[in-house]
Amino acid sequence: MAAACDVAVLGGGIMGLSTAYFLKTLAPGMEVAVVERDPTYEFCSTPRASGGCRIQFSCPENIRMSLFSIDFIRNFPKTMRTATQEAPVDWVEGGYLFIVPPEHIGLLEANHAAQVKEGGVAHLLDPAGLKARWPSMRVDDLGAGVHTPHDGWCDPSGLLQGFKRKCVALGVRLIHDEVVALEVGGAAVRSAALKSGSRLSADHFVNAAGAWSALVGEMAGMKIPVSPLRRFEHYFTCGNPMEKLPYVKDLARMAFRSEGAGFSGGVVDGDEPRGFNFEVDHDYFERVVWPAAAHRFPPLESAKCHRTWSGLYEQCELDGNPILGNWPGKLDNFFVCTGFSGHGMMHAPAAGRGIAELVVHGEYRTLDLSRLGYGRVVANEPYAERGIL
Ligand SMILES: Cc1cc2nc3c(=O)[nH]c(=O)nc-3n(C[C@H](O)[C@H](O)[C@H](O)COP(=O)(O)OP(=O)(O)OC[C@H]3O[C@@H](n4cnc5c(N)ncnc54)[C@H](O)[C@@H]3O)c2cc1C
Repeated sequence: MAAACDVAVLGGGIMGLSTAYFLKTLAPGMEVAVVERDPTYEFCSTPRASGGCRIQFSCPENIRMSLFSIDFIRNFPKTMRTATQEAPVDWVEGGYLFIVPPEHIGLLEANHAAQVKEGGVAHLLDPAGLKARWPSMRVDDLGAGVHTPHDGWCDPSGLLQGFKRKCVALGVRLIHDEVVALEVGGAAVRSAALKSGSRLSADHFVNAAGAWSALVGEMAGMKIPVSPLRRFEHYFTCGNPMEKLPYVKDLARMAFRSEGAGFSGGVVDGDEPRGFNFEVDHDYFERVVWPAAAHRFPPLESAKCHRTWSGLYEQCELDGNPILGNWPGKLDNFFVCTGFSGHGMMHAPAAGRGIAELVVHGEYRTLDLSRLGYGRVVANEPYAERGIL
């Protein structure tokens, strides 16, 4: 069996659905199909995310994407409701707080200046300022912190399902199948072979397969330096009285925030062996997260972990930044949208809109994201964040 559409989106996680949504808003007449192999999203990264959204980056593209996306997520329930269904995402404007030791104050100040220059609200605090605001925090080994009060977090599953329902309402075709091969002819992908035996041809393809995007790229002969990187998320409570916390992050990759009566977050291990590994290490909290969290907030000495889950980052091995766009001259109609390395949920609205613009207009019309293109992979020229992981 063969089917055809204008744009075939490969992967129906947050990137695929956001791209499909923006395609239909930019070009309502376009026939858009999203191929997703698992509508239950069991191993999909999006529902496993922590939900954090922040403007605390150093690259202007990432700050700009966050400013757009946070506004979009804040307004999501209004914009994305359909005639029959609500679109709740439980947005909490809890803020973010990046903290650094004295030797990295200069780095934090430079990043703070970049965020303010882009129109973000960001406050630089010294240790006394930090202590006054969050009395439980140990600050004697800190140099400074930046607080971004309009950052926050949302429910990643709500965001995913809201995009999905809106896509359906706008006429996007959802195909429950798996892409197993791509047929390439000239400088273009012509069709996708699906596991069911059917074939889907299209004028444009979008590789939105997240942690599996390198495998889908390989099917078209495109090398994408993105690997699956396991990360744990923990829900824990304190036991001692403690103030509410913003999403606190440090340079050792400790990151957690208040969640209900407790806290949610973890410590990313960048040296974790790459692979499709979802096994949960139940000692990780006690071994790694608890000492780091209790060092910074001594009341957490009595922390108790209630739940740990694992998920995959689609880690860009070149520079930790996303790869967006086509491979000009080689695969003109095959657009990748991957490699967000821990920032994908928050950047999905901006990235999806960007890819939709490339497909519909052949160029970016709102945010210029060309520095995040595949060209830097071909040239082996990393474009990394400064001091922010
Ligand atoms: C523990 C954890 C915490 C995180 N916290 C945050 C956070 O606080 N903030 C933030 O912004 N980001 C966070 N992230 C990152 C975020 O989850 C990802 O960047 C984002 O979800 C990636 O979306 P995606 O659509 O690219 O991938 P996915 O959500 O994984 O979707 C890809 C989809 O493609 C499908 N697929 C793959 N191959 C094929 C194929 N051959 N055929 C058909 N379908 C296919 C898969 O089934 C999957 O559903 C976190 C991630 C983890 C693991």
